[in-house]
Amino acid sequence: MTGNNLNDFEGYTGTVMSDKLCIPKGIFEDMLLHCREAYPNEACGILAGKGKEVLKIYKMTNIENSPVSYFMDSREQFKVMKDIRENNLSMLAIFHSHPSSPAYPSAKDLTLASYEDSVYIIVSLMGKEPVAKGYSMREGKIEEVGIALEG
Ligand SMILES: [Zn+2]
Repeated sequence: MTGNNLNDFEGYTGTVMSDKLCIPKGIFEDMLLHCREAYPNEACGILAGKGKEVLKIYKMTNIENSPVSYFMDSREQFKVMKDIRENNLSMLAIFHSHPSSPAYPSAKDLTLASYEDSVYIIVSLMGKEPVAKGYSMREGKIEEVGIALEG
């Protein structure tokens, strides 16, 4: 991608973002439900787990109450981060819904993407069936990350 050799980067874990994110079916369904419940506004949340395996979903409040944007409540997010740490998990993905646009990051999503190691999942509700897609957003670049459903 770039001339940077990530393997030389201190603390680099060797995680390849093109590896699929594994989400148990129950958690995936729960994520879609949370998005449907917030409709016509955007919903947001966090998926935590180990490695590439999602083990837990945190449904978050979109304090913007908007159909075109989301912002997590910082106090709620703080509690979730604490819970993730206490359970020895990592934040693997941040999800939000696009009630009436495709499952692709908006210009604003790209600007606000501050967690380089996190997968950003976007659930589009514009069609008859919801569509969920994962992306990594680093240094202004968008790359799709596959999602594998389990169970
Ligand atoms: Zn968005």
